[in-house]
Amino acid sequence: MGKRRISIFGVTGSIGANTAAVIETVGLDAFEVVAVSGNANIAGLADAARRLRAGVAVTADAGRLDELRAALTGSGIEAAAGASALIEAAGRPVDWVMSAIVGAAGLAPTMAAARTGATIALANKECLVAAGTVFMAEMSRSGATLLPVDSEHNAIFQLTCAERDCPIERLILTASGGPFRDRSRAEMAGVTVAQAVAHPNWSMGDRISIDSATMFNKALEMIEARHLFGVEPEQIEVVVHPQSIIHSMVGFRDGSILAHLGPPDMRVAIGYALCWPERPELPVERLDFAALGRLDFEAPDPERFPALGLARAAMARGGVAPCVLNGAREVALDAFIAGRIGFLDMAALVEQAMERLDGLPEANDLDDIFAVDAEARRVALELVKRFAA
Ligand code: NAD
Ligand code: MG
Repeated sequence: MGKRRISIFGVTGSIGANTAAVIETVGLDAFEVVAVSGNANIAGLADAARRLRAGVAVTADAGRLDELRAALTGSGIEAAAGASALIEAAGRPVDWVMSAIVGAAGLAPTMAAARTGATIALANKECLVAAGTVFMAEMSRSGATLLPVDSEHNAIFQLTCAERDCPIERLILTASGGPFRDRSRAEMAGVTVAQAVAHPNWSMGDRISIDSATMFNKALEMIEARHLFGVEPEQIEVVVHPQSIIHSMVGFRDGSILAHLGPPDMRVAIGYALCWPERPELPVERLDFAALGRLDFEAPDPERFPALGLARAAMARGGVAPCVLNGAREVALDAFIAGRIGFLDMAALVEQAMERLDGLPEANDLDDIFAVDAEARRVALELVKRFAA
C-alpha cells in the first residue's frame, strides 16, 4: 500500500502538536504530509514542517512569507502565506485532513478540504457551530467522511461504532466544570485570564481553556453533537464530571448506557481519528481504578454557567442563531483576554448580541455564514465598548 497523504491545519497549536506526536508514534514513514499550516508562530511552523517532511507550509499571516521562506531555507519545503494560500493548500488532494485551526478562521480551509472528499478529522468545532447545516451538506455532497476529534464527540463516535444499528436515545456530554466549578458568581466576576486558562485536567490552547472555564466550550459541543449525530436538542444532556475520566456517554432505548473512559489525553481521540477503524498503540497513561477511587457527577449550575442555556436558546431559535452565538463569543473572548471586560460579561454580552440579531434569514452557503459572522462580530464589538465603559 502506498503512503497515506495527509495535511494538518493548525499544526502549531495544541491539537496540531499532539497530531504530529501521534503521527510520529504510528510511524512517519507511513505518511506523505502534503501541507501544514500555522499563523503567527513562524519558527514553530517551520519546525513542524521539517519534522513531518511536509510538501508545503502555509502561514495564514500574509505579511510573514519572507520570514517563513527564510525559516525553511535548504529544506526544499514550499512556503506560502495568506488566506487564499491556505484555502489553496486545503484543496490539495489528500486522504486525511486534521482541521485544528482555532475559531471561525478554520471554516474556509475546512470547507475547501471537505470539497475534495477527503476524510476530515475535525477538531475545529466552530465549523459545526457556525456553519453546521452548510458544512454537513457539503460533506454529504462530496462524500467526505467526518471523524470527530473533540474528546466528547470522539468518545460518542467510538461508542456508536460499536452500536451502529441502535438508535440513540440520549447523549450525555461530560464536562469537567473547569477551574471555577466551586466558585461563587461573585468570585467568578473577578477572576483573571491566568486563572481562567488553568484547566484542572486537560492541557489545551488558551482560548478553549477559557471557554471551558465559562462552559462556552460545552455550549459549542452541544451544538456540535447535534450536527454530528443527528439528534434533537432535548436528547443532549450535560453532566459535570470533575475527574474527566468518562469522556461522554450514549443512552439507548432499553435503558442501557455505554460510557467511554480513558486518560484525559487528546492523543487518544486523535489516534482513533487517524487510524479508524483500527486503533493505534499509544504511550498514554493506563487508568488505575483503585487509585482513582471514585468518579463524581453533578448538575451544571445555570446561574454560574449561563453559556449552556445560551446554546439551548440558539438551537431552539435555529437558523443562524448558533453562528451569532459563536461570532459574539469569539469577540467576547478577545475582549476578556485583552482585559477589557470581566469574566461574567462574556456570557452576558453573547446573550445581548443574540437578542439583537434574532430573526436573521437562513444561511444557504458559506458566504451567508460569513456575513452573519461579521454582523455578530460588529454588534459584539459595540457591546464590548458598552461593557468596558
Ligand atoms: P491553539 O490555540 O493551541 O492552536 C490554534 C491553531 O490555529 C494554531 O496552529 C494557530 O496557528 C492557528 N490559528 C490561529 N489563528 C488563526 C487564523 N486566524 N488563521 C489561521 N490559523 C490560525 O488551539 P487548540 O487548543 O489546538 O484548538 C484547535 C481547535 O481544536 C479549536 O477549535 C478547539 O476548540 C478544538 N479542540 C481543541 C482541544 C484541545 O485539547 N486543545 C480539544 C477539543 C477541541
Ligand atoms: Mg471537548
